[in-house]
Amino acid sequence: MKEQFLGVDVSSYSYEELKQNTIADIEQRRQSFIVAINPEKILQAQKDPNLKNLLNKATYQIPDGVGVLLASKINRGDISSRVTGIDMLLALCEQASTHDKSVFLYGAKPGVAEKAKDGLLKKYPNLKVAGVLDGYEKDQEHVIQTINEAKPDVLFVALGSPKQEYWIVDHMKDLDVRIFQGVGGSFDVISGRVKRAPRFFQKFGIEWLYRLITEPWRLKRQIKLPTFLYKVWKERK
Ligand code: UDP
Repeated sequence: MKEQFLGVDVSSYSYEELKQNTIADIEQRRQSFIVAINPEKILQAQKDPNLKNLLNKATYQIPDGVGVLLASKINRGDISSRVTGIDMLLALCEQASTHDKSVFLYGAKPGVAEKAKDGLLKKYPNLKVAGVLDGYEKDQEHVIQTINEAKPDVLFVALGSPKQEYWIVDHMKDLDVRIFQGVGGSFDVISGRVKRAPRFFQKFGIEWLYRLITEPWRLKRQIKLPTFLYKVWKERK
């Protein structure tokens, strides 16, 4: 269930399959790690073997962004729909609330995770939020201890990429947690601090266009997509 793009694995699981797999991971007390993959991260990994290694170490690499879908088309692969970081977070919360599992929100500016918690509880009133912690706490021992005392089944880490991925891999063994997901700016969106693209843009997979209009500095990042697709095309079998 994995495809490779320039040496980086991407899973072709749907939300439904991921929901089934992660609940099985929790029940069987296996640790698993979800990372969102986009062209920018794949290109970054070309220059940084540590990052490539780390991305490939994740249990589930979700195809976040149309760039990966286009690359799969070039390779005649079978990744046909996106699994975005934020929708995966929501899917896990829905799953947790129906299976009586708990989640913990770690990351973002002080106050944001708390507001994101309120947003999640509005959507999933039965969700157990075991705790929240901002992403600027310097005392890492305190962070580990707080999470372990809360004993969540699922931990969302919002420290930005690739910081959150390095954090997860470095601390997984010390944490009594089953599912880890790096969620970037998701708490900012769920808390209402930052707006998500309107449904129209989401539906057509052109959230990147909305972001380009609202945050033009992103052009520097988006310009990398053609380079990525060209590299994939050159390496296709
Ligand atoms: N952040 C944090 N601690 C840090 C650096 C960043 O909690 O030391 C948070 C920041 O407040 C924001 C998120 O990490 O909520 C990064 O969001 P961004 O949209 O930049 O994520 P990316 O695009 O890197 O996935």
